[in-house]
Amino acid sequence: MAVLEIMKYPNPVLKTKAVPVKEVDSELQSLINDMAETMYASSAIGLAAPQVGKLIRVAVIDVTPMLEDKNLIVLINPRIVEKEGETILEEGCLSIPDYREKVKRWARVKVETLDQEGKKREIEGEGLLAIAIQHETDHLDGMLIIDRISSLKRNIFKKTMKKQLLAKDQP
Ligand code: ZN
Repeated sequence: MAVLEIMKYPNPVLKTKAVPVKEVDSELQSLINDMAETMYASSAIGLAAPQVGKLIRVAVIDVTPMLEDKNLIVLINPRIVEKEGETILEEGCLSIPDYREKVKRWARVKVETLDQEGKKREIEGEGLLAIAIQHETDHLDGMLIIDRISSLKRNIFKKTMKKQLLAKDQP
């Protein structure tokens, strides 16, 4: 297993819609293992394939990454089929370091997905799990948390990022 490099904003790969997986094979399983390793190494609760530069509809989630017993959830070609309620939580993203913002989400979702063995599964989540599922499926559609906030906040974010990126380019 290996810890993979994480693509950071404004890398265009993060804005691109990922394509469905055609076959759950050993190559994909090994990518999933590496993605899980990368997520745990960053103490994150989720990671989507586009964040490691792979434009396929795959994500890993574990809402209790610090626990000894791992509760890894693998999403392959996930589809949210039910959603209800409303919840707001401050979210962060490995692809946007040092940034957190409140995002409004469905409070409960049901997702249809394949698991790591390629079997069809349904996963229902509420609270943090529901939020993680929506955050990661957003990544598969090229959406980041900054696409889920008000345009005013987004403009402030973009200005701040521009300044930081310019400052980085200075000798
Ligand atoms: Zn993210």
